[in-house]
Amino acid sequence: MAVYILHFSGKLYHARHYVGFTDDFKRREKEHMNGHACGSPLVAAAKAAGLTVTVAKVYQDGGRELERKIKRGKNTSKYCPLCRAEKQKEKKKNVSRNHVSPAANPATGQCKEGLEAKRKAAAAERGTVSHERS
Ligand SMILES: [Zn+2]
Repeated sequence: MAVYILHFSGKLYHARHYVGFTDDFKRREKEHMNGHACGSPLVAAAKAAGLTVTVAKVYQDGGRELERKIKRGKNTSKYCPLCRAEKQKEKKKNVSRNHVSPAANPATGQCKEGLEAKRKAAAAERGTVSHERS
């Protein structure tokens, strides 16, 4: 028995996933991908709406329990690797957007000012800051 998650490229009736249960995923997948209504009306509708349907995850030895758990969770994207990857990307984007130090040096993790201060401190130790006098 297999439980599987189909991921839609866009929302359909606020749904982005179809969670199914089958004893023969290969046959079922074909039915879905051909857009047969016997596959699932929701998946057929998604295809008719021009959405791309992708097999996101297959639990080859999943059972009814797992199917129920995923459906009950109301958050299928938690189980969907495609959505998780998307979220990760989103997160990374947000981090770089919120980054307040544009002078940061990614190689050392130190900002320019910090390096400059360090250089000055080292120079002061050597007594070579005279050029700063007017
Ligand atoms: Zn998804």
